[in-house]
Amino acid sequence: MSKPLILICNDDGIDAKGIHTLARALDGLGEIVVIAPEREQSAAGHSITMRDPVRAFSYTFELPSGPIKAFAVTGTPADCIKLGCNRLLPRFPDLVVSGINSGPNTAVNILYSGTVSAASEACILGIPAVAVSLCSWEDDADFEQSGHWARRIAERVLQNGLPDGILLNVNVPSGPHVNGVEVTRQASARWEEEFSPRTDPFGRTYYWLTGRFVNLDDTGDNDLAAIDRGYVSVTPLRLDLTAYDHVQTLRGWDW
Ligand code: MN
Repeated sequence: MSKPLILICNDDGIDAKGIHTLARALDGLGEIVVIAPEREQSAAGHSITMRDPVRAFSYTFELPSGPIKAFAVTGTPADCIKLGCNRLLPRFPDLVVSGINSGPNTAVNILYSGTVSAASEACILGIPAVAVSLCSWEDDADFEQSGHWARRIAERVLQNGLPDGILLNVNVPSGPHVNGVEVTRQASARWEEEFSPRTDPFGRTYYWLTGRFVNLDDTGDNDLAAIDRGYVSVTPLRLDLTAYDHVQTLRGWDW
């Protein structure tokens, strides 16, 4: 068997600490290639570039086993996966791992996340994919623990595979001690948002999005609860957004 081809992406940009930790953590697991946005694309969601050219610049990542190939792309996380699979890689990868994101991607944030969208784009293309986020926004956050779990989970996915249309969303608690893995579901939560008005130097009003994250979920098996208890949260996500439990009801409407 040839070594698996593993594509690494993120949304924090190719120079972010998290993606370098991830590449080092996966060293030796297969042939690794990094394709990531040249600058930060956090909250880019699943956006793609259609009205501008997309360029890819060659980069090198230094891993313990030696240098590996990398590309910085002038686009979004989803662009990176598409371009990688279509042009930059010699063949479709066997696994895509996205991250390690600075900050959690739990609950409704999954929808805004560029980290998750890199993994979901891979999933659309039929490639097993994992998104990994560290639940800390600190500049000096320690990514080593999340690197360890990312490798462990990547190994499990390479062993077991994933069904078509399903990807894994992983969130690692911050702090030195992690209790283990819990398989969870997406919590029900939302942002109570406010566009704060400010005035620019020319006297014109502009707005800055601020908000408070509100957890509406008091069940124990969701992603936020697992992280609170000090467990790595692994949530299987499905790309088919159809609300199957509402299809019959809707068919009953007088159309
Ligand atoms: Mn990010």
